[in-house]
Amino acid sequence: MSRDKPKESCGIFGIYGPGEDIANLTYFGILALQHRGQESAGIATSDGQRIKLEKLTGRVDRFTEAQIRRLSGGESHPAIIGSGHVRYSNTGSNICENYQPFLFQSRFGRFALSHNGNLLEPEVLQRRLIDNKLVPEGTSDSELIALLIVDKSYEALTFEEAIRLALKEIVGAYSLVIMTTRKLIGIRDPWGIRPLSLGKINSDHFLLSSETCAFEPFGGEHLSDLGPGEMIVIEDGKYCSSQLLPQVCKNLCIFEFIYFASPGSILYDRLLQTARRHMGERLFEEHPVKIDNPNEWVVGGVPNTGTPGAKGYAEASGLEIRELLLKNGYIGRTFIQPSQRLRSVGVRSKLQVLPREVRGKKVVLVEDSIVRGTTTGQIVNLLFKAGAQEVHMRITSPPYKYRCLMGIDTQYPEELIAATKSVDEIRQEIGATSLGYLSLEGVIQSINHEKSLSPIPSDHFCSACFNGQYPFKIPEAQNRFVLEQTV
Ligand code: SF4
Repeated sequence: MSRDKPKESCGIFGIYGPGEDIANLTYFGILALQHRGQESAGIATSDGQRIKLEKLTGRVDRFTEAQIRRLSGGESHPAIIGSGHVRYSNTGSNICENYQPFLFQSRFGRFALSHNGNLLEPEVLQRRLIDNKLVPEGTSDSELIALLIVDKSYEALTFEEAIRLALKEIVGAYSLVIMTTRKLIGIRDPWGIRPLSLGKINSDHFLLSSETCAFEPFGGEHLSDLGPGEMIVIEDGKYCSSQLLPQVCKNLCIFEFIYFASPGSILYDRLLQTARRHMGERLFEEHPVKIDNPNEWVVGGVPNTGTPGAKGYAEASGLEIRELLLKNGYIGRTFIQPSQRLRSVGVRSKLQVLPREVRGKKVVLVEDSIVRGTTTGQIVNLLFKAGAQEVHMRITSPPYKYRCLMGIDTQYPEELIAATKSVDEIRQEIGATSLGYLSLEGVIQSINHEKSLSPIPSDHFCSACFNGQYPFKIPEAQNRFVLEQTV
């Protein structure tokens, strides 16, 4: 299936809990973050003296019982800390050298590092490390962070100081979970772009996760979201917060609210499912359809991420909501298909239209975003073929016009349909009867809909893919394979 959506970044997770079944719990933690990346998965555990690591290609459920048993350490050396990663590659290919967590030896001992985000100009850092005889095995920017920490450990008095010295030299988006044999450490970059939350299982067992949905399986309590530049160190049953680097701004990725994060997660105190429903309500206010006879109409969402928006649109319009498309949840990754025929088969194998719900109807179809437009066009076409009279596309975000170099794989401007086409030209290209995008103001007002919570100012979000206002200067030439071009 050709890429028509921004791809998730990565998911990172950590657990500190002597006496818990750490290996299995880490497995469940990254399983809850599976939507953030399905290319590879990794788990590291420590029994207090040694770190063990297992990584694999594909989804979390490919871990074998034998691997989990090895990570658990058995009765003689039970694991007390665990960390894990699920990956969608933003820098570097999907090769095993790039899978995370990365395990390295610093002057202060071994550590495992998991990263969510993207560094700017990683090739400059790569060259510097190679000059210092620290040669990365792979082509991922995340490995460079680990190597830089190793390098800085020779100038630092503590491991945390080595981390600070390393991160001081880095510009970009990074949330990190770093595990030593005795400590679990969480860090967010000074711009606050990718999320990271702290949770607890009980008074001395703690969790770190890209999203709060990973606390749920443990009955864990969400304690806080790390602030920009904040570091949490968990050790000896206690956690300690400090400002590792000064905060530059608060620029949490607004796409986490629209699409990336699980609807069951909480960001800025908002449940995302509710925020997305309000986006659908607001979308009706901004882009209503002309309803003469409600019986002629039906509203549906592109599963699964368009569904909450469709509910909101249906509630606000008074139109009936139906499941118009079924998603095959068993399909993982498909590959770039060279012909129109194969692309159409690819879409149909993922999404099945229910003709009885569609035939003779005027359809409002709600989707969270359009990146390239190819898949959206195929879905519109399938709906018409199934007998829809009209297909009105409604999108719960503004046109995606600018590339993202902060952890999302939309690094080529030529792939973005809205970068060069007007809304009406996009409508023509996807073949829809009408097309309406939610405004950026509408997205932020929907997030701020709950009156009991103080509103989040618009400058507390990164929305650069909609308005081109990046939190830092973006290099012209950077793309996901930049480190492969320089080695
Ligand atoms: S550019 Fe868009 S996708 Fe990238 S971090 Fe900013 S809001 Fe998120």
